[in-house]
Amino acid sequence: MIKLKNLRSRGVIFLTNMKKKHIYADHAATTALSIIARSAMTPFLEQEYGNPSSLYSLAREPRNAVAKARKTIAELIGAKAEEIFFTSCGTESNNWAIKGTAFQYIGQHKRIITSCIEHHAVLNSCKFLEKIGFEVVYLPVDHEGRVNVQSLSEALTDNTALVTIMLANNEIGTIENIKDLSKVAHEHSVLFHTDAVQAIGHIPVNVEELGVDMLSASAHKFAGPKGIGFLYKKAGIEIEQFMSGGGQEMQQRAGTENVASIVGMAVAMEERISIIEETTSQLNYLVEKFKKCIKVSGLDYIYNGADNRIPGNISISFKDGEGEILLHRLDLKGIAVSTGSACNSKSVELSHVLRAIAVPDNYVNGTIRITLGVDNKAEDIEYIVQSIISILEK
Ligand code: PLP
Repeated sequence: MIKLKNLRSRGVIFLTNMKKKHIYADHAATTALSIIARSAMTPFLEQEYGNPSSLYSLAREPRNAVAKARKTIAELIGAKAEEIFFTSCGTESNNWAIKGTAFQYIGQHKRIITSCIEHHAVLNSCKFLEKIGFEVVYLPVDHEGRVNVQSLSEALTDNTALVTIMLANNEIGTIENIKDLSKVAHEHSVLFHTDAVQAIGHIPVNVEELGVDMLSASAHKFAGPKGIGFLYKKAGIEIEQFMSGGGQEMQQRAGTENVASIVGMAVAMEERISIIEETTSQLNYLVEKFKKCIKVSGLDYIYNGADNRIPGNISISFKDGEGEILLHRLDLKGIAVSTGSACNSKSVELSHVLRAIAVPDNYVNGTIRITLGVDNKAEDIEYIVQSIISILEK
């Protein structure tokens, strides 16, 4: 491994001032609320607090704002307003799509097909259905995390209720071939849902082009507020209600609307999508810079995930490294990244995604996930790389 001071003398890394900075590089976990979204939300947290379902004039503005947000979001993904249902988060959207479809077909169709690299909101919904008698097929993925269309085709049976495969993976950033996967499901007359939580606001998403029947999204992944999401459900598709109660959301998802957050989500989504091209090229530039800087370090590492991936996602595994330790040392230097394993005080559980793509044993523990965002700068990359090198040097 080349020492940090030698890298500096070779002009690869320019930062000589290693004063502690605060760098957020965990945008796949959550994002900061957009300033524009926050100011659009404010009136609905203050004077416009009426319940959209009420009949008096104080309800008019909130009701109109919810309708406008629904229309905006629908247009941004090529849907119709009446196909957008507000939920409390991506997790709820996934639960509703999966359990709602399963319950709709109870006694008729027993099979659900998913992939083994889904988020736990999908995996644990499927596990729940297994407990009550459904049969779940967890499709394998290749070394880059891609679901094979042929393997889906072979898993589809007459009694399949739903296929649910994510659009983009939260750990390794791989984008799935949803267009071809949904086509195969439809050839067998099976509904197709995609978890697009990591994709919306980061890559162009159009429900018609993807050919999906249902799609889940979450605002806090694209600079919207936390605790709000939506489910796109194609017109004519009927699934069981998940939240029972009043008649909100076209009688299909009960609960008084979170007006301010709905407004904030629509504004943030519009803002992010309007700058998606500039953001993508900036993030691609930063990722290339990271790769260039780390390449000359002499460290032994591998990258995880496919080339077709979410912009700004770097999943890197250092040979014989300890991702948890690296994460904590980076934190001490003011850098927020994520790791490839979920640990508790007693055990370190390896990520199901890294296991599924078969990251070699001597690399897998040394995995960190860096997810860059619009506010990251070139000097952040230099600081991150220098910090990684100086930690691993020791
Ligand atoms: N699906 C994916 C792919 C995610 O990355 C996440 C959050 O990390 C979720 C679902 C859950 O979204 P939420 O945090 O809004 O419940």
